[in-house]
Amino acid sequence: MATGYIPREFIDDLLVRADVVEVINARVPLKKKGREYTACCPFHNEKTPSFTVSPNKQFYHCFGCGVHGSALDFLMQYEHLDFVEAVESLADSLGMAVPREHSGRGPDKKQIQRTKNLFSLLQEANQYYQQQLKNTQKALDYLNRRDLSDEIIQRFKLGYAPAGWDNALKLFSKSYSDQQLADSGLIVYREEEHKKYDRYRDRIMFPIRNRKGQVIGFGGRVLGDDKPKYINSPETPVFHKGSELYGFYEARLNTQKLERIIVVEGYMDVIALAQFGVSYAVATLGTATTPDHIKQLFRAVPEIIFCFDGDRAGREAAWRALENAMPMIQDGKEIRFLFLPEGEDPDTQIRKIGKEKFEASFEEAVSLTSYFVEKLKERFNIASDEGRARFLTEASKNLKTMPDTLIKDQLLKRLAKLTNVDISTLNRRHIINAPEKTEPAADFTRLSKHEVSKTPVRYAISLLLFKPSLVNYIENFEHIALSELPGSDLLTTLIETIQESPQINAAALLERWRNTEFEAPLTHLMKWQAETDDEEVLRCELQDCLRQIRKRANEKKIETLLHRSSTVGLNKQETEELAFLLRNR
Ligand SMILES: [Zn+2]
Repeated sequence: MATGYIPREFIDDLLVRADVVEVINARVPLKKKGREYTACCPFHNEKTPSFTVSPNKQFYHCFGCGVHGSALDFLMQYEHLDFVEAVESLADSLGMAVPREHSGRGPDKKQIQRTKNLFSLLQEANQYYQQQLKNTQKALDYLNRRDLSDEIIQRFKLGYAPAGWDNALKLFSKSYSDQQLADSGLIVYREEEHKKYDRYRDRIMFPIRNRKGQVIGFGGRVLGDDKPKYINSPETPVFHKGSELYGFYEARLNTQKLERIIVVEGYMDVIALAQFGVSYAVATLGTATTPDHIKQLFRAVPEIIFCFDGDRAGREAAWRALENAMPMIQDGKEIRFLFLPEGEDPDTQIRKIGKEKFEASFEEAVSLTSYFVEKLKERFNIASDEGRARFLTEASKNLKTMPDTLIKDQLLKRLAKLTNVDISTLNRRHIINAPEKTEPAADFTRLSKHEVSKTPVRYAISLLLFKPSLVNYIENFEHIALSELPGSDLLTTLIETIQESPQINAAALLERWRNTEFEAPLTHLMKWQAETDDEEVLRCELQDCLRQIRKRANEKKIETLLHRSSTVGLNKQETEELAFLLRNR
């Protein structure tokens, strides 16, 4: 296997040479439509194409389910490759050999090195916590009282963070920097008070592992009744709550044939179920189940069973899970809800009834659509006309998020029957689908799910993504940072990057910021569509944005100077500048 880092220049070059249209068309036949290509989305079920590929930006995007990315992302998503595999596959198809770098500098390498160090730090931390557990009788006693076997403690690599404020801090600052310790989430930094200390103290440690089995974070539980009961790692460069599931790695490792996944609420539930032979449970990490979670689970299994405690909190969590699951439903995949008896959680329940009966209770799990209808029926009185209308209005909110599937058809039939309203009326009243946009053609607002307003900074970024060569019309841009407008740092960085690599395209630009704070805003702006290819028009638009940003920067400068003049006073040069700015306001 090749080792070493893939140089950034190679990835730029690869994305400039590759054609996203060709890559996708070889797997999903595309049709030309205007300046773009479309197809029925390969990632969700649909009858009318909302999957769009832009040859100009070398970027695809589905208006139905929101998937998007470059040729590399497509290979990763469609063929389930990891990043390096996707690079290799794409390079291979173009007859390019992937170079590896063992030394040298560059931000990419630094970035990779940083993440790599985080992984090794977290791994070492986990070994340390495991060691501490072996030496701490009260922690072992606690796990014994919870009836956890040695085998299961080992399987989930449980550990113990000793009491005290600086055990991990002292140990790991020998080989890791403050920044790394902060990034890992192991150490808390309070800059204003110049304090740093161990985040986890006197807690049972549950390492959270990613799909490769690397430790990416921890959950820490108190031994007694102190609050908070659990502390999870904060969001870090390697840990994102919304896309990680506790126990998913272990479930795949320890289940011979994974056919379904049970989603439970806590670490101890996952572990207790595993100890009793139900090795296919996972838990979310202090968040509701996200669409991303469901997408990952459906890649692995055709059936998801959400298992909730029978109390009110459990029912509320169930409804949230349902709302997040509805946009992700697919024919051939199943989502069901299982409610435990009042007062029980999976941990207590499996100890009480054992594996066989627990698995047999899956028979009682209700389907997502049945649960949906039942919950609505509880809330509205469908014996009256008004009640039925409210019932349908409420149902409509969720129905609109559901992809067009057989499951949806079935649900509609059921609702129609229940309320005595035929499906064509439901359709006419836009109960089922959002009204068709009259002009779905390219414009800057056609992505409206998480609409962001078109500020001059955002617009300028999207124009540069659309046509990086527009950067030639930007003469100076010092004022952009000065404007302090949201996104001005991203815009400045973008301009500098394009000036350094004039041949770069949008896909390669996006690649530069993969896994950074700029990835999300860039991806979002990538979806904006310019109305025209005409360079002259685009140039005017860009210059107009820059004028508006300059205006804002001037206002900012005026504010500062006025403030100075009323406090410390201005020198001659500043007085002249203020006068000039005010004259040109
Ligand atoms: Zn889609």
